[in-house]
Amino acid sequence: MGRVIGIDLGTTNSVIAFYEGSRSEVIAGTNGDRTTPSVVGRGSQGEWLVGEVAKRQMATRPQQTFYSLKRLMGLRFDEVADITNKLPYEVVRGEHDLACVRVDDKPMTPVEISAMILRALRDRAEEMLGESVERAVITVPAYFNDAQRQATRDAGKIAGLEVLRIINEPTAAALAYGLDSGQTKSIAVYDLGGGTFDISILNLADDVIEVLSTGGDTQLGGDDFDQAIIDWARQEFLEQTGVDLLEDPMARGRLKETAERAKVELSQSLESHLQVPFVATVDGVPQHLDLTLSRARFERLVQPLIDRTLECCLAALEDAGMQPLDVDDVVLVGGGTRVPSVQRAVEELFAKMPNKSVHPDEVVALGAAIQAGVLDGTVEDVLLLDVIPLSIGLETLGGVVTKVLERNTTVPARRSQIFSTVQDNQKSVNVHVVQGEREMAVDNRSLARFELTGIPAAKKGVPQIEVTFDVDADGILKVSARDLGTGVEQEVCVRDASNLSEDEVERMLAEAGERHEEDLARRRRAEARHTAEELLLNVEETLEKSLGRDVPTAECDRLRELCERVRDALENSVSSFEHDELVEATEALQEAAHRFADFIYQGSH
Ligand code: ADP
Ligand code: MG
Repeated sequence: MGRVIGIDLGTTNSVIAFYEGSRSEVIAGTNGDRTTPSVVGRGSQGEWLVGEVAKRQMATRPQQTFYSLKRLMGLRFDEVADITNKLPYEVVRGEHDLACVRVDDKPMTPVEISAMILRALRDRAEEMLGESVERAVITVPAYFNDAQRQATRDAGKIAGLEVLRIINEPTAAALAYGLDSGQTKSIAVYDLGGGTFDISILNLADDVIEVLSTGGDTQLGGDDFDQAIIDWARQEFLEQTGVDLLEDPMARGRLKETAERAKVELSQSLESHLQVPFVATVDGVPQHLDLTLSRARFERLVQPLIDRTLECCLAALEDAGMQPLDVDDVVLVGGGTRVPSVQRAVEELFAKMPNKSVHPDEVVALGAAIQAGVLDGTVEDVLLLDVIPLSIGLETLGGVVTKVLERNTTVPARRSQIFSTVQDNQKSVNVHVVQGEREMAVDNRSLARFELTGIPAAKKGVPQIEVTFDVDADGILKVSARDLGTGVEQEVCVRDASNLSEDEVERMLAEAGERHEEDLARRRRAEARHTAEELLLNVEETLEKSLGRDVPTAECDRLRELCERVRDALENSVSSFEHDELVEATEALQEAAHRFADFIYQGSH
């Protein structure tokens, strides 16, 4: 069996790495790219584009270009209301109430679309490593709940990958650092990505990494820094021209691109020019956006966002029972940590220089690859302990939550609790599983509901129902309830609540396979066209040059005829039938061209 690879499926960028020798390494694409934008687009011909090519059409085809999908993964439509109005593409309610995106009037799950990114990464790995890749470790933000982890695993499956382990991104980052250190210390991993902020407090001792606490904000990242610039630019433009750029999806897309570029530039320079020509028209007169943003102003715009990350840090420290000064090492992860004022703020909070020796954009994938190495036996002596990010409990009388597994419990974990009936002769109990920190069930995320029936008639409070929560090493939950009197047991697959069913995943897997075939066919067609066009140009040039030389006219005519046939085939080569004709015509022309060349060279002797 081939090796296991590590994948950082990021909100903004994804990275793939593998373990070899005694270190992990990023797998770059043929063009040298080490990261792939987590963007999937529908091209003008209905084809699917992934990565850089998809990102490039973001401004021109905003409604068909899907980015930040990770923010929607595994969530219900109602849970993403605050995100959707920021996205230029349409988010709709799909089956099981899942948040989906609209593709050609049909809802498509973020899981399926993310699978295309994973598939592209897998293809890259297979191409570069020259072997088939079927198993992976994928990272997720520490804050991901059960449904989001399930969704990530499903995406892997649809991409044809067996996901051996889901690990938290900060844990992966710590792994990338921890292996070499061999000493005992506490570290804080501050990860500011495109869409999420995670802070984790970890303990490293003798190659054992323990997560003491995690925290963060799933709705805070570099995108919000871009948004701060967009809001500012929109306001400035509104004052200058009276035009609201956010009303036009196309302008919105172009502004987003420009804002991000300005942000990145401001990590290096003290000033950036935002220019978007022909962004709007007023009374038929084209308007251009042309603004200058200083680093100082930018820092003021984003300070509230940075402050929010610091509050999360303090909360996570408190959970770990620590003060900022107790942290020995601070690790910066994610492209967002390249912003100088972010680095400054982190340095001030922890009163020490943050560690940046491993590339912040790659560190998570590198850590995932180490975990992959552990799973396929290449790396030894690393034990990874993760925690449950949010408490899991049951709704009990009056809608109150009784927590069974507290947040930050180390996984794998198993806990049971005995519950009883609330009425005399009650025959069944409803078990409602929720995840979150709030007191009332309605304020938390509902994970699953099921009913345990067949309880023998008894006075209230007499029956004993044991509910067991089992969280595996991936942080994925199984719940079972057992009537201790009768032994009747019921297990619930939490995925039923809001996730895709096994059947749906299988169907998507088949569809993805077809799509891959289709893409291959499309690529073959494009290559055939390219070959034909090249050959045509080449032959026409040869014909021109051979004018007046001693070449039989019949040969020239034959060649011209074949050129004509290729040209016709090129014009018609849309369906696969004509594609065959194109290939045949090209071959015939190729052969004739070779014969023709023989004539020319013989003639020149
Ligand atoms: P994710 O983990 O969400 O995929 P990354 O770690 O790749 O994200 O970080 C992406 C974010 O980092 C984006 O918002 C991007 O604009 C930002 N970013 C990348 N490079 C820089 C830079 N030089 N300065 C500021 N922000 C940057
Ligand atoms: Mg990341």
